Amino acid sequence: MTTVFETLESNVRSYCRAWPTVFDTARGAWLRDESGREYLDFFAGAGALNYGHNNPVLKSALLEHLSRDGITHALDMSTTAKRDLLVALRDIVLVPRGLDYKVQFPGPTGANAVEAALKLARKVTGRTAIWNFTNSFHGVSLGALAVTGNAAKRAAAGVPLAHAVPMPYDGYLGDDPAAGPAWMRRVLDDSASGLDKPAAVIVETVQGEGGVNVASGQWLRALAELCSARGILLIVDDVQMGCGRTGPFFSFETAGITPDIVVLSKSIGGYGLPMALVLLRPEWDQWAPGEHNGTFRGNNPAFVTARVALEHYWTGDGLTASTLALGERVRDALDELAARYPGVSARGRGLVHGLAFADVSVAGKVSRLAFERGLLVETSGPDDEVVKLLPPLTVTPDELGYGLTLLAEVVDEICA
Ligand code: PMP
Repeated sequence: MTTVFETLESNVRSYCRAWPTVFDTARGAWLRDESGREYLDFFAGAGALNYGHNNPVLKSALLEHLSRDGITHALDMSTTAKRDLLVALRDIVLVPRGLDYKVQFPGPTGANAVEAALKLARKVTGRTAIWNFTNSFHGVSLGALAVTGNAAKRAAAGVPLAHAVPMPYDGYLGDDPAAGPAWMRRVLDDSASGLDKPAAVIVETVQGEGGVNVASGQWLRALAELCSARGILLIVDDVQMGCGRTGPFFSFETAGITPDIVVLSKSIGGYGLPMALVLLRPEWDQWAPGEHNGTFRGNNPAFVTARVALEHYWTGDGLTASTLALGERVRDALDELAARYPGVSARGRGLVHGLAFADVSVAGKVSRLAFERGLLVETSGPDDEVVKLLPPLTVTPDELGYGLTLLAEVVDEICA
């Protein structure tokens, strides 16, 4: 049997150091390690498990697909599983929202989808620059990293990253009616700025890795208007915040904006199976055949679980309503903690929330002690100063309450 020690030594450092145990099985909002100890999962595969671990509805669809020798891998070929997913996407997600997008399967990961979106924006506009925002996170491949506003992550590349210009995420918080991407407007209006008009702007409506920074609807609308007026494509990266994380299926719905390109991954596969999508306005479908491909862009088992997730959870608005209601409970609990200790604040939307600590060493301590108490919570933010709560959307009210109580005990113990 592999010991914890061997796992730690042979695995490249990451979660194996932060959560030193060997996990074995999982169901719903719970992970179990090989000693039988259970952990409540408020991390949910970094947003890849919105419907929980081994979701029974998705599992039976997957097993049925496998047992009838349904295709597992088919590159970009047309298959029944792909067709059924495209139909479900159109009928359940796009048409009811008045959205008209073509669908690209760019490969298995969020970064694959971001790369495709950046490439497409450059191809169709003939421009090269991409603008992104402070504290953004879009993936760790070189193109995606170029638009990631995190110095430590960028430093890992060891080379200058071309063609990305970080914009301050100014005025994005709160409900200031005058809020807008003022700095970006100034640069565009200033012919002496030295910056070329970009092909696209890429934005997360809520920055997940960046510390749960929630853009206001006003700010997003101003950004969308500016992009549209200047012929700049707006790419919304919904890799972490899509598939209902903030309540509605797409995180940008609340702001009432329609991006030119949307990237989705993580929970779109439904069962934790790798899959990513690029949704693009039909006029931007200018790819020549084979111009952007990848071997694993035809993950048919993921097409099946993705489709069943859409049919089961998104026919109607039940999941949105329960996510928003559970999110209120999280917010109340975090506000209570924030009121108890100076330098602590809460923010979030739907079932993504952050508890930010002015003393940047605290969030890591909270995550480690929570692990010891049986609760998995991750940190985020430029200094890892924010405890990020990302439970599965299918978490029960009792499980949520239990996890929030554990978290409060941990914070009390560390901050009191
Ligand atoms: N965009 C966002 C907003 C993300 O949160 C992530 C992953 N945390 C990515 C892109 C990259 O996805 P992946 O890790 O699957 O490449």
